[in-house]
Amino acid sequence: MFNWARFFVFLKRKPTVVTPNTQNHLETGETQMNTITKIEPLDLMTVNFDKSPNQSDRKDIVRAIVLHHTGPGTFKGIVNWLKDPRAVASAHYVLGYAAELTQLVNTTKKAWHAGPSEWTIDGTKRKDLNHCTIGIEICNPGVLVERDGKYYYEKGRDDLVEWAGASPVKASITYPSGRILEGYSAPYPEVQRNKLIALCKGIIKKYPNIGRENILTHFGISTPEGRKNDPFGLDIQDIINRIFE
Ligand SMILES: [Zn+2]
Repeated sequence: MFNWARFFVFLKRKPTVVTPNTQNHLETGETQMNTITKIEPLDLMTVNFDKSPNQSDRKDIVRAIVLHHTGPGTFKGIVNWLKDPRAVASAHYVLGYAAELTQLVNTTKKAWHAGPSEWTIDGTKRKDLNHCTIGIEICNPGVLVERDGKYYYEKGRDDLVEWAGASPVKASITYPSGRILEGYSAPYPEVQRNKLIALCKGIIKKYPNIGRENILTHFGISTPEGRKNDPFGLDIQDIINRIFE
């Protein structure tokens, strides 16, 4: 039977007013979170550790952080590859698309992420920057090329594979000489960028000598210039501003 009493209560009901708050922004979009979310330093002791044999002793103290993109691949696949002796490569941390995070090398040890590299750090021109840096690999396919409205990444030398993830955006990087590389990039999800900021804050808590100018990019430090283009499409200035907010 129809409940008239209930029906009138329903009619008199006040409209629900949704007040924007952090939770709503989390659900509805990414763009406004930057201004309202204060990111706390990550407790490094809580990070999953999965040791890579691809490491050696440092001949310097930790002075800087180097950011990378991984290129195509899943988080698990990349972690497994960087643990494989055949890779002859590693990083201290690998950060996934959904903010999954694994540490492969203790920060007191040298991970093999930067290769031939050169940069002036703490007033001294230094080479082989693996000795004085912490490397973070961020999952992202890297430079995408556009063909007839579709986007592709390179696999091996000749193969182009269609990118099936989030819609790419135009991106560019500027090398130290001023040379610009343009292309398309898959967006770095907000959860991933927030975790990166929290991780960097956690690292800086442990190594407070790392300043704004010591957050480096692989494309910026690699030699010869142009050898690397990562982390392509990441808004480095925004990341640095938010690390040091
Ligand atoms: Zn790199």
